[in-house]
Amino acid sequence: MITIKNSREIELMRHAGHVVGLVHQKMAEVLKPGMTTQEVADICEKVIRDNGCTPSFLNLYGFPGAVCTSVNDVVVHGIPSDYVLQDGDVISVDVGACWKGYHGDSAWTYAVGNVSDDVKHLMEVTEAALYAGLEQVKPGNRVSDISHAVQVYLESHGCTTPRDYTGHGIGTAVHEDPTVPNWGEPGRGPRLRKGMCIAVEPMAHLGGEEVYTLDDDWTVVTRDHSLAAHYEHTVAITDSGYEIMTKV
Ligand code: MG
Ligand code: MG
Repeated sequence: MITIKNSREIELMRHAGHVVGLVHQKMAEVLKPGMTTQEVADICEKVIRDNGCTPSFLNLYGFPGAVCTSVNDVVVHGIPSDYVLQDGDVISVDVGACWKGYHGDSAWTYAVGNVSDDVKHLMEVTEAALYAGLEQVKPGNRVSDISHAVQVYLESHGCTTPRDYTGHGIGTAVHEDPTVPNWGEPGRGPRLRKGMCIAVEPMAHLGGEEVYTLDDDWTVVTRDHSLAAHYEHTVAITDSGYEIMTKV
């Protein structure tokens, strides 16, 4: 069931999203070689809790971390650990915060130290694919108009996207209807309406689209171990387009 949020609910989601934005602002400042991904997660969790929110992903479906930290060939759902970030690594940090029962959800990919031109290309293309998808977010368009725009952008710039992980509706649960895939034909799926809140989240690989899950049952890596990136915003659909909630 797709829920339409009223102005009170939008206001709560705006605050949750703002706190997620604060976390990413902090990440952009502090991420550097020598940190462990657990330290990264601890910093994120502190920002979330210092602002009166709770980490949405902790224990969600049993996930053991406060945020997801996905390094290099890890696409999504990396578990914070004692892995020490190396110069040249790329890390995607997926952050959820809950404020008075409403969630914000945003992932962003960061270069650790000095990264290769391939990493820069992957990051630029995946971030631009997010905005290509968001351009389709307006009342009257259909969900797969977003999907198609993301896929076309990624593939026309030499990247692929996994088929099993998608964006989603969001509100009192992190994952609500509708599912928002990153691929597909346009003009399909539910129509977008004012008051819907969705997370648009392209994931992209430099190599093939296939992924698999490690024995920890969480960590999703590219089959060919090519590098991956992930950019996500939670948006509310407005009269004429969208409002990004997960930014400062
Ligand atoms: Mg996310
Ligand atoms: Mg999400």
